[in-house]
Amino acid sequence: MLLKSIVVGPLEVNCFVLACEETKEGIVIDPGDNVPGIMEMIESNGVQIKEIVATHGHLDHIGRVKKLKEKLGVPFAINEDDMFMVEGLVEIASFLDIDTDEAPEVDRFIQIGEEISFGNETLSVVHTPGHAPGNVTLLWPGHALVGDVLFAGSIGRTDLEGSDPEVIMASIHRELLILPDETQVYPGHGPYTTIGHERATNPFLK
Ligand SMILES: [Zn+2]
Repeated sequence: MLLKSIVVGPLEVNCFVLACEETKEGIVIDPGDNVPGIMEMIESNGVQIKEIVATHGHLDHIGRVKKLKEKLGVPFAINEDDMFMVEGLVEIASFLDIDTDEAPEVDRFIQIGEEISFGNETLSVVHTPGHAPGNVTLLWPGHALVGDVLFAGSIGRTDLEGSDPEVIMASIHRELLILPDETQVYPGHGPYTTIGHERATNPFLK
Protein backbone atom coordinates (compact mmCIF):
# COMPACT_ATOMS: atom_id res chain seq x y z
CA MET A 1 0.00 0.00 0.00
CA LEU A 2 1.18 3.46 -0.89
CA LEU A 3 0.17 5.82 1.94
CA LYS A 4 0.76 9.57 1.77
CA SER A 5 -0.71 12.36 3.85
CA ILE A 6 -0.65 16.09 4.30
CA VAL A 7 -2.05 18.27 7.07
CA VAL A 8 -4.78 20.57 5.74
CA GLY A 9 -6.82 23.48 7.04
CA PRO A 10 -6.96 25.50 10.26
CA LEU A 11 -8.04 22.43 12.25
CA GLU A 12 -5.03 20.45 10.93
CA VAL A 13 -6.70 17.40 9.45
CA ASN A 14 -4.63 14.53 8.08
CA CYS A 15 -5.72 14.15 4.44
CA PHE A 16 -4.59 10.80 3.04
CA VAL A 17 -3.96 9.22 -0.32
CA LEU A 18 -4.05 5.43 -0.28
CA ALA A 19 -3.06 3.65 -3.47
CA CYS A 20 -1.96 0.33 -4.88
CA GLU A 21 1.84 0.33 -5.31
CA GLU A 22 1.59 -1.73 -8.52
CA THR A 23 -1.30 -0.10 -10.40
CA LYS A 24 -1.19 3.37 -8.76
CA GLU A 25 -4.98 3.33 -8.48
CA GLY A 26 -6.17 4.84 -5.22
CA ILE A 27 -8.50 7.00 -3.15
CA VAL A 28 -8.34 10.36 -1.33
CA ILE A 29 -9.56 10.48 2.26
CA ASP A 30 -10.78 13.61 4.12
CA PRO A 31 -9.94 16.52 1.80
CA GLY A 32 -10.84 19.22 4.30
CA ASP A 33 -8.84 22.03 2.72
CA ASN A 34 -5.88 22.89 0.48
CA VAL A 35 -6.89 21.41 -2.88
CA PRO A 36 -3.60 22.55 -4.51
CA GLY A 37 -1.60 20.66 -1.87
CA ILE A 38 -3.78 17.56 -2.26
CA MET A 39 -3.44 17.67 -6.06
CA GLU A 40 0.35 17.95 -5.68
CA MET A 41 0.34 14.89 -3.38
CA ILE A 42 -1.70 12.94 -5.94
CA GLU A 43 0.26 14.00 -9.00
CA SER A 44 3.77 13.74 -7.54
CA ASN A 45 3.00 10.12 -6.62
CA GLY A 46 1.45 9.34 -10.00
CA VAL A 47 -1.79 8.16 -8.40
CA GLN A 48 -5.00 7.71 -10.37
CA ILE A 49 -7.81 8.56 -7.93
CA LYS A 50 -11.06 6.60 -8.30
CA GLU A 51 -13.04 7.90 -5.31
CA ILE A 52 -13.08 10.52 -2.53
CA VAL A 53 -13.94 9.00 0.85
CA ALA A 54 -14.78 10.75 4.14
CA THR A 55 -14.10 9.04 7.45
CA HIS A 56 -16.94 11.19 8.83
CA GLY A 57 -18.86 14.35 8.03
CA HIS A 58 -17.21 17.10 10.09
CA LEU A 59 -16.42 20.16 8.04
CA ASP A 60 -12.68 19.98 8.63
CA HIS A 61 -12.76 16.59 6.82
CA ILE A 62 -15.15 17.41 3.93
CA GLY A 63 -14.72 21.18 3.41
CA ARG A 64 -13.10 20.89 -0.05
CA VAL A 65 -14.77 17.75 -1.37
CA LYS A 66 -16.80 19.75 -3.87
CA LYS A 67 -13.77 21.46 -5.42
CA LEU A 68 -11.66 18.29 -5.41
CA LYS A 69 -14.53 16.36 -7.05
CA GLU A 70 -14.60 18.92 -9.82
CA LYS A 71 -10.82 18.67 -10.30
CA LEU A 72 -10.70 14.87 -10.30
CA GLY A 73 -14.10 14.00 -11.75
CA VAL A 74 -14.61 11.16 -9.28
CA PRO A 75 -17.47 10.16 -6.94
CA PHE A 76 -17.70 11.01 -3.24
CA ALA A 77 -18.65 8.45 -0.59
CA ILE A 78 -19.62 8.92 3.07
CA ASN A 79 -21.64 7.01 5.66
CA GLU A 80 -25.31 7.97 5.49
CA ASP A 81 -25.41 8.63 9.25
CA ASP A 82 -23.36 11.81 8.70
CA MET A 83 -25.53 13.23 5.90
CA PHE A 84 -26.89 15.86 8.28
CA MET A 85 -23.36 17.28 8.49
CA VAL A 86 -22.98 17.38 4.71
CA GLU A 87 -26.30 19.16 4.43
CA GLY A 88 -25.36 21.60 7.20
CA LEU A 89 -21.82 22.25 5.96
CA VAL A 90 -22.19 25.89 4.92
CA GLU A 91 -24.20 26.83 8.01
CA ILE A 92 -21.73 25.32 10.49
CA ALA A 93 -18.76 26.72 8.57
CA SER A 94 -20.12 30.26 8.71
CA PHE A 95 -20.94 29.81 12.40
CA LEU A 96 -17.32 28.77 13.05
CA ASP A 97 -15.99 31.37 10.58
CA ILE A 98 -14.18 28.72 8.52
CA ASP A 99 -14.06 29.00 4.75
CA THR A 100 -15.40 25.91 2.94
CA ASP A 101 -16.94 24.92 -0.37
CA GLU A 102 -20.67 24.43 -0.70
CA ALA A 103 -21.97 21.02 0.32
CA PRO A 104 -20.74 18.35 -2.11
CA GLU A 105 -23.05 15.96 -3.88
CA VAL A 106 -22.85 12.52 -2.27
CA ASP A 107 -22.64 9.81 -4.93
CA ARG A 108 -22.62 6.74 -2.73
CA PHE A 109 -23.18 5.79 0.88
CA ILE A 110 -20.39 3.77 2.46
CA GLN A 111 -21.84 0.54 3.81
CA ILE A 112 -20.61 -0.99 7.04
CA GLY A 113 -18.87 -4.27 6.24
CA GLU A 114 -18.22 -3.37 2.61
CA GLU A 115 -14.83 -3.63 0.94
CA ILE A 116 -13.27 -0.70 -0.89
CA SER A 117 -10.92 -1.95 -3.61
CA PHE A 118 -8.39 -0.17 -5.81
CA GLY A 119 -5.68 -1.87 -7.82
CA ASN A 120 -4.59 -4.95 -5.89
CA GLU A 121 -5.55 -3.48 -2.49
CA THR A 122 -8.71 -3.90 -0.45
CA LEU A 123 -9.90 -2.00 2.63
CA SER A 124 -12.63 -3.28 4.91
CA VAL A 125 -15.04 -0.82 6.49
CA VAL A 126 -16.09 -1.02 10.12
CA HIS A 127 -18.39 1.35 12.03
CA THR A 128 -16.76 3.35 14.84
CA PRO A 129 -19.37 5.94 15.96
CA GLY A 130 -19.25 8.06 19.10
CA HIS A 131 -17.36 11.13 17.89
CA ALA A 132 -19.55 11.29 14.81
CA PRO A 133 -22.44 8.88 14.25
CA GLY A 134 -21.17 7.92 10.80
CA ASN A 135 -17.44 7.61 11.58
CA VAL A 136 -15.95 4.68 9.70
CA THR A 137 -12.58 3.00 10.22
CA LEU A 138 -10.78 1.64 7.17
CA LEU A 139 -8.80 -1.53 7.84
CA TRP A 140 -6.16 -3.40 5.87
CA PRO A 141 -3.71 -5.95 7.27
CA GLY A 142 -1.62 -4.32 10.00
CA HIS A 143 -3.20 -0.89 9.55
CA ALA A 144 -6.25 1.10 10.71
CA LEU A 145 -7.28 4.52 9.41
CA VAL A 146 -9.66 5.64 12.12
CA GLY A 147 -10.97 9.15 11.51
CA ASP A 148 -11.49 11.03 14.79
CA VAL A 149 -12.21 8.07 17.07
CA LEU A 150 -8.74 7.46 18.49
CA PHE A 151 -5.70 9.75 18.59
CA ALA A 152 -2.17 9.35 19.92
CA GLY A 153 -2.76 9.86 23.64
CA SER A 154 -6.40 10.89 23.31
CA ILE A 155 -9.81 10.09 21.84
CA GLY A 156 -12.28 12.05 19.74
CA ARG A 157 -14.41 14.85 21.15
CA THR A 158 -17.79 13.74 22.40
CA ASP A 159 -19.39 17.14 23.09
CA LEU A 160 -20.61 17.67 19.51
CA GLU A 161 -24.00 17.06 17.88
CA GLY A 162 -24.30 13.33 17.33
CA SER A 163 -21.43 12.50 19.72
CA ASP A 164 -21.77 10.05 22.59
CA PRO A 165 -19.04 9.28 25.15
CA GLU A 166 -20.31 5.77 25.86
CA VAL A 167 -20.62 4.96 22.18
CA ILE A 168 -17.07 6.07 21.38
CA MET A 169 -15.62 3.87 24.13
CA ALA A 170 -17.67 0.93 22.88
CA SER A 171 -16.41 1.53 19.32
CA ILE A 172 -12.78 1.66 20.44
CA HIS A 173 -13.08 -1.55 22.42
CA ARG A 174 -15.18 -3.43 19.86
CA GLU A 175 -13.29 -2.53 16.67
CA LEU A 176 -9.82 -1.20 17.57
CA LEU A 177 -8.52 -2.80 20.75
CA ILE A 178 -9.17 -6.24 19.22
CA LEU A 179 -6.42 -5.49 16.67
CA PRO A 180 -2.83 -6.69 17.22
CA ASP A 181 -0.51 -4.38 19.18
CA GLU A 182 1.68 -3.71 16.14
CA THR A 183 -1.25 -2.37 14.10
CA GLN A 184 -0.40 1.09 12.74
CA VAL A 185 -3.07 3.70 13.50
CA TYR A 186 -3.66 6.72 11.26
CA PRO A 187 -5.86 9.27 13.06
CA GLY A 188 -7.67 12.23 11.53
CA HIS A 189 -5.47 14.65 13.45
CA GLY A 190 -1.97 14.52 14.91
CA PRO A 191 0.76 11.87 14.76
CA TYR A 192 0.38 8.23 13.80
CA THR A 193 0.49 5.67 16.60
CA THR A 194 -0.01 1.94 17.18
CA ILE A 195 -2.73 -0.04 18.93
CA GLY A 196 -0.18 -1.39 21.40
CA HIS A 197 1.11 2.07 22.31
CA GLU A 198 -2.41 3.37 22.91
CA ARG A 199 -3.42 0.25 24.84
CA ALA A 200 -0.44 0.77 27.16
CA THR A 201 -0.38 4.56 27.53
CA ASN A 202 -3.60 6.27 26.43
CA PRO A 203 -5.18 7.70 29.61
CA PHE A 204 -8.70 7.43 28.13
CA LEU A 205 -8.33 3.65 27.73
CA LYS A 206 -7.43 2.92 31.36
ZN1 LIG B 1 -14.41 15.13 13.58
